[in-house]
Amino acid sequence: MNRLASAPLQQSYDRPRKRMVDEQIIARGVQSPRVIAAMLQVQRHLFAGEALRLHAYKDKSLPIGEGQTISQPYMVAKMTELLDLKGHERVLEIGTGCGYQTAVLSCLCKRVYSIERIKSLHELAKRNLRKARHSNVMLRCGDGLLGWEDYAPFDAIIVTAGGFASDLWLEQLAEGGVLLMPEGIGKSHRLVRRYKQEGKVEEEYFDDCTFVPLLSGVS
Ligand code: SAH
Repeated sequence: MNRLASAPLQQSYDRPRKRMVDEQIIARGVQSPRVIAAMLQVQRHLFAGEALRLHAYKDKSLPIGEGQTISQPYMVAKMTELLDLKGHERVLEIGTGCGYQTAVLSCLCKRVYSIERIKSLHELAKRNLRKARHSNVMLRCGDGLLGWEDYAPFDAIIVTAGGFASDLWLEQLAEGGVLLMPEGIGKSHRLVRRYKQEGKVEEEYFDDCTFVPLLSGVS
C-alpha cells in the first residue's frame, strides 16, 4: 500500500475519534485505561457504511441495514468496561451486527466468538473485521439463543440485542464467568451483569438503554 497516499485519510479520522473518546466516553465516567485504548484504536468509520462514514464518531447509534444498528460509542465502551477483561478470556458475543463491538472486544481478550442471525450482516462483519485486521475472531451465522456449544465454556458472554437470557448461556459460561446483556421487554431495557459463582448466580443492574430486539432463528 502507498503509505503516503493513505496518510491524510487516516489522519482525518484520528481527531474525531479522540474527541469521541474524550467527550462521550471519559466524560461520562468510563475509566478503564484498556477500554479507552481500545476505543481509540478501533477505526469505527471502517464499520459504519460508506454513506455514514462522516457520522461514525457521533454520539448516536447508526443504521447498518436489515433494520439493525451499530450501538452508540458510549454504550459499546460501557458494556466492554463492565466485562472487566484482562486479556486471557474467551468471549462469546451474541449479535455481531457490523462487527464493531467484536473488534473492540478482540483488542482486550484472547479470542471472540461472535454469532449473528442475519446472513447479510454476518457477511458484512466478516468483510469489516478482515479490512480492520482483527484476526482473533471467529464468526458464525446462526441463532445465538443456542450459544456455541463447540467452544464452551466461555469466560464472558455479551449480548448486544435486548430481551431475556437463554438458559443455555449460563450453562455455557465458565465458573466465575460473566454474562452481560440489555434485559427487558420492547424498547425498554436495562443492562444486567450476572456472575456464575459456586453454583449460584449474582446479579447487578446498570444503565437503562434501548437495543434492537433479540430474536430467535436465522434470517
Ligand atoms: N454489536 C453490534 C450491534 C448489532 S445490533 C455492532 O457493533 O454492530 C444487534 C444484532 O443482534 C443485530 O445484528 C441482530 O440481527 C442480532 N441478533 C438479534 N437476535 C439474535 C440472535 N438470537 N442470535 C444472533 N444474533 C442476533
